[in-house]
Amino acid sequence: MSSAPEYRQILRRKSRQIFVGSVPVGGGAPISVQTMTNTLTHDVKGTLAQILKSAEAGADIVRVSCPDEASTAALKEIVRESPVPIVADIHFHYKRAIEAAEAGAACLRINPGNIGSEQRVRDVIKAAKDYNCSMRIGVNAGSLERDLLEQFGEPNPAAMVESARRHIRILEDNDFFNFKISVKASDVFLAVAAYQELAEACDYPLHLGITEAGGLRGGTVKSSIGLGMLLWSGIGDTIRVSLSAPPEEEVKVGFDILKSLDLRHRGVRVVSCPSCARQGFDVIKTVAMLEDRVAHIQTPITLSIIGCIVNGPGEARETDIGLTGGGNGTHMVYLAGRQDHQTSTEQMVDHLVELIEKKAAAVEAAKAEAAMAADKPSAAE
Ligand code: SF4
Repeated sequence: MSSAPEYRQILRRKSRQIFVGSVPVGGGAPISVQTMTNTLTHDVKGTLAQILKSAEAGADIVRVSCPDEASTAALKEIVRESPVPIVADIHFHYKRAIEAAEAGAACLRINPGNIGSEQRVRDVIKAAKDYNCSMRIGVNAGSLERDLLEQFGEPNPAAMVESARRHIRILEDNDFFNFKISVKASDVFLAVAAYQELAEACDYPLHLGITEAGGLRGGTVKSSIGLGMLLWSGIGDTIRVSLSAPPEEEVKVGFDILKSLDLRHRGVRVVSCPSCARQGFDVIKTVAMLEDRVAHIQTPITLSIIGCIVNGPGEARETDIGLTGGGNGTHMVYLAGRQDHQTSTEQMVDHLVELIEKKAAAVEAAKAEAAMAADKPSAAE
């Protein structure tokens, strides 16, 4: 049971669990972070470079488009070399879906209602079953079926959920349950309401996204509001932040959303003040330098960088490592919430990086030791 106070607790919606390759999605698994490449998929080198960068930033799953045969032909090598499971994004063409499953895609993003004849649907589902490939039904407000638009008058939440239901029915009628669903819209109100309705209507895992959210700043704000609202209410099993920005930026934003809600922890979480005339050092420059220097660290560590004693000691009490600006270029370092020693403006960045790296190494060593102890049979056995 979580020891967090009630106001910090998020009760997650109960969903079934599926797997995207080795990554569990739903059923209480950690919320995974996804992104999508924007290279030409047949450019294997370029695509793999983006996948690696995304994986380094923390992506659990990466999606690649498969619009043509050259893409699915390239997929085999991409899957083989990728450190994370690959989702093949297919629109309409059933043959690309079968080729992608054969090439080792861990998941197909395809809407069964768009595949065509029942036989084609059966062929795709057979390939998915044969190659242990899950699927994602991806409903998008911008491409709803014409008859649904006529029936509902506009792309509203009910129309989106009805579209999802149709695709769900096709898969279920073919004894296929290994799928997750998204109901994305670029309008935050519409997307949130559609996900809320869908969350009530089924127990399949949900892939969250605010589609075409915009550029790095605007899209981050929009996604944070939409995804934040849903995640906070316990809805969502995997997320993708859609930005007109490099894929690794989407991953970083996705993780920051999850970190803000205490849903996942990865890397250094920085608490810092906006700075003002009271600052004892240049807070903004220092935070930028530190974020850059500790970007490689994956161990969850909290760091507070506060310009003066107004808020410094209080924030430091809640973080693993803290720095509070003082007078005459001398600043206080806190370890585990307690005042520990002083450092100077000139040395503080190098010094903090060193402390963070040491702390990360100690945490990892303790984790490895605990894992070894858990593996060892006790004396009584
Ligand atoms: S903590 Fe100090 S330096 Fe930072 S904004 Fe507040 S008063 Fe200004």
